[in-house]
Amino acid sequence: MPEETPLQTKQELPVLTCPHCRIALHIDDSIILCPECNSRASIQAGINNFFVSGKFSAAQSDPPLNDFNRIASTQGWQTAAEKIASNSPNPVHLLEYITSEARADFRFLLPVTQEDIVLDVCGGWGNITAAFARTCKHVFSLDSSWDKMVFSSIRSSQQGLDNITYLHAHPALIPLPQASCQIAVLADTLECGFWQEAATNSQTNHPQILSSIRDKLVPGGCLYLGIENRYSYKYLLGGKAPPSNLRFISLLPRSLANRYSQLLRDVDYQEVAYSLGGITNLLRQAGFSNLKVYYPIPAYPKFRFLADLNSKAATALMISRLRVHLGFNRSLYLFSKIASALGILPWFAPGFSIFAYKE
Ligand SMILES: [Zn+2]
Repeated sequence: MPEETPLQTKQELPVLTCPHCRIALHIDDSIILCPECNSRASIQAGINNFFVSGKFSAAQSDPPLNDFNRIASTQGWQTAAEKIASNSPNPVHLLEYITSEARADFRFLLPVTQEDIVLDVCGGWGNITAAFARTCKHVFSLDSSWDKMVFSSIRSSQQGLDNITYLHAHPALIPLPQASCQIAVLADTLECGFWQEAATNSQTNHPQILSSIRDKLVPGGCLYLGIENRYSYKYLLGGKAPPSNLRFISLLPRSLANRYSQLLRDVDYQEVAYSLGGITNLLRQAGFSNLKVYYPIPAYPKFRFLADLNSKAATALMISRLRVHLGFNRSLYLFSKIASALGILPWFAPGFSIFAYKE
């Protein structure tokens, strides 16, 4: 049996490690090789690309988008972001989503230090990666979208951030040693899919992804998870659930949601929405404990405030948001009184910000 990679001290950066054999990978020029199982990855444009060999890649990487990375290189990442957003139905929303480092403001509830190693799982456009790179020792930014990873790499280079390692890899096969990171981030991602067998659309690999992340955390390390709520009051009131934009779809059992989506959009229902109980159970099954759940206001992808889900403030804020949607009337007043008394109002928050610790 090969020896496991020794645990890293805080002074050392974790070395890239085979997710199957748990031994250090050999890096020779632009080739990354596992000496035990001979799996290969490559280094392209400064990014470690693990979607080369079948053994390293549990699924296809996301399809290419367009030529905005050429624009990012020649005209700057912010110009590219404006062009990407301008093609969206809601350009202001998307531009802020791509550019704002405030999406990482949950870090103020973490004990972040300058010595911390951070794993940004599904780093996307790079704003959360950049925010942590400014304050922590090093960030490993992982994503299955090559184009977004290149964008994030161009962005961080133009921002003068040189303490980021990019990993184009699957989140269930993270090429880092055990217990090598103090903080992990999984923001706005889990609900987007990740199927074990895309063709059958039957079972997610979310348990494997969460176990893989927990494995990389040191004891006492924390995973931040931002996720939407399938029972959001917005969906219960008939709001359209993105990206399918179908009403009430997140409330349905999977088989019915699939049929509904097939009927109206001619595609399978790809999203995976969780209730509060569903996501906290999943985290506990993956070995996380000491969960702290917050209500992100106004919405989980880019919040302005985080309120402890069980606090009176969270309840009062949720009632005030309901009034915005429904207006003030006797039914809402009665519902909010009963739901508050039973303590069930938090179940209907639009999303959750969860801090899950590894003991
Ligand atoms: Zn190996």
